[in-house]
Amino acid sequence: MTDTKASGNMADIVPERVGPDHRFQFKCHPKVACFTQCCRGINIILTPYDIIRLKNRLQMTSEEFLAVYTRPELLEKTDLPVVTLKLLEDEQESCPFVRDDGCIVYEDRPGSCRYYPLGVASLQHKDGADDEGFYFFVNEPHCKGFEQDTVWTVKEWRRNQGVDIHDEINAEWTDLVVRKRSFPPNVKLSEQSKKMFFLAAYNIDKFKAFVFESSFLERYDIDPQMVEKIRADEIELLKFGCRWLKTSLFSAVKDDLFKLREPEG
Ligand code: SF4
Ligand code: SF4
Repeated sequence: MTDTKASGNMADIVPERVGPDHRFQFKCHPKVACFTQCCRGINIILTPYDIIRLKNRLQMTSEEFLAVYTRPELLEKTDLPVVTLKLLEDEQESCPFVRDDGCIVYEDRPGSCRYYPLGVASLQHKDGADDEGFYFFVNEPHCKGFEQDTVWTVKEWRRNQGVDIHDEINAEWTDLVVRKRSFPPNVKLSEQSKKMFFLAAYNIDKFKAFVFESSFLERYDIDPQMVEKIRADEIELLKFGCRWLKTSLFSAVKDDLFKLREPEG
């Protein structure tokens, strides 16, 4: 799976595989001639944590945010639903959050905007993974940031841009997607499973209602401390939801958190 903010044709990008200690020269600031060009004509897959940050920033429910700002798609080779940022219908297909003086949601911008000019590819799911993925440069010709003189390692860039936190919170979701991608293409999910995936991964407010207002907590014997944790904290709820999805979608995954209650009587 690649997580990339890129315009043009990604097929043209030959990923130069680089690791966390790779050094590169780059700086982006409002005085570069290309300022905000990389915020137009792009394709951004939003992660679950991106959605939480943006919907809270915009003071919307996840349902409202999904309806206004996203498009549903199926992620190639996985048959899993993802959502991409819906661009404006202007000539340049601008991001809805870009203005002449920059990004109006900058502090809460998506993970792939933070990574840029890097992209990230996750190769394997966690069990037995011998490779945590790799990074590559998007290297778009319009980007003048590479002509600036600040030097970073990939590790420093990720920390500086706050990507580490995004990746840590999204880890269960990334693992789910990569795990599904490792299955043969003829292994399809039912429509119901796709709906559950969409709900738990992207529509966090509705998922909360599902957990607390349906028979979910009667079916599963969830530790009371965990119940309070997910009631109070939507990041914890997201991680919980992704763990639940994993046990529901992949029969080989067992998780003690989701013990079914014994029938009474
Ligand atoms: S320097 Fe690169 S990242 Fe910065 S605005 Fe220009 S295109 Fe975007
Ligand atoms: S969210 Fe902000 S940084 Fe990302 S593409 Fe839109 S305007 Fe640019």
